[in-house]
Amino acid sequence: MKTVKVNASKSYNVLIGDRLLERLGEYVNEAVGKCRLCIVTDDKVDALYSECAERSLRSSGYETEKFVIKNGEASKNTTSLIALLEFLAENRFTRSDCIVALGGGVVGDLSGFAAGVYLRGIRFIQAPTTLLAAVDSSVGGKTAVDLEAGKNLAGVFHQPSLVLCDTRTLDTLDERIFSDGCAEVIKYAIINDKPMFERLKGGIKSDIERVIAECVAHKAEIVEKDEFDRGCRQLLNLGHTVGHAIELCSGLTVSHGSAVAIGTVIITRASVALGYTSEDELCQIISLFKSAGLPTDCPYSAEELFSAATADKKREGDSITLILPYGIGNCKPYKLPVSELCKFIRKGL
Ligand code: NAD
Repeated sequence: MKTVKVNASKSYNVLIGDRLLERLGEYVNEAVGKCRLCIVTDDKVDALYSECAERSLRSSGYETEKFVIKNGEASKNTTSLIALLEFLAENRFTRSDCIVALGGGVVGDLSGFAAGVYLRGIRFIQAPTTLLAAVDSSVGGKTAVDLEAGKNLAGVFHQPSLVLCDTRTLDTLDERIFSDGCAEVIKYAIINDKPMFERLKGGIKSDIERVIAECVAHKAEIVEKDEFDRGCRQLLNLGHTVGHAIELCSGLTVSHGSAVAIGTVIITRASVALGYTSEDELCQIISLFKSAGLPTDCPYSAEELFSAATADKKREGDSITLILPYGIGNCKPYKLPVSELCKFIRKGL
């Protein structure tokens, strides 16, 4: 087992290891002590892992309730949020109780938001079961639901009390969903870890515990410096501005991970055109994404991407900040006027 400590406004451990779910009760007890627990999960994960989690919690003396949502992004909405809050209230959860989010990023984001606002904030624990949730969404305290106007438009910052990642659960993921997580793994390496980038060429699955721990350590370092996303946390958005535009252009049929991979390639190719990254490094990035089962070619024009990117409700002012690689392992913010974004994207296609 590997442990990464996150020292944000609240300190907590991220535990990563094989079969950890079987010992969930022990670790929950260490982190939050005796209380009542509300397990939040989705129907797919429920069928696979709730029993194991509940058995472990019961054997450590916990009383649990369970709230199950339908799997998929469509459940990350205000209707599910309100239903979860009502469920907590009906079941008389108090300020000393705790939520356990068992699932991927959808379950984690929704549970974290509910925990952040129920009774003005109760504790919650993340038990991520997708690679994306393990390396990204479960750590750092960003929670959210989607609104009609766009993704993640409502949420709070609320750090978990513990993150417990049982790497065995990743064995049941569909290849496509595993690949989505790989895009985020590769992202960390391109941002600031060239040695990790080299190791990933040997395969991501082969040493998954170490890979997750390294990604979490990178995320922890960034979150500790900029918990509330006003500065260097933006580095984590590598490939995401163009990636979101690709998701929008596709009507969300291109998955997030695939869109981030394509977006990262576009940004890197633009960086090559500007003379900041070598052609050889671009080829290495493309080949690593491909080996992880991710696409790298963009089916949309610069004009289509530009109009989708500028429709982003969270955009501020007349300039846009992209994260630009200056070679593998060295990314920095790159601010440009919105009026030049289309030309910039064209360089990357
Ligand atoms: P997800 O939670 O929808 O999970 C993907 C699918 O995998 C679902 O169908 C789920 O039921 C299934 N699944 C989960 N674990 C499984 C397992 N072990 N075996 C088999 N199937 C399993 O999606 P995701 O990719 O985990 O997360 C995406 C969400 O995360 C998005 O809503 C995104 O906005 C959010 N996110 C949040 C942050 C953050 O910092 N809070 C960061 C990145 C992404």
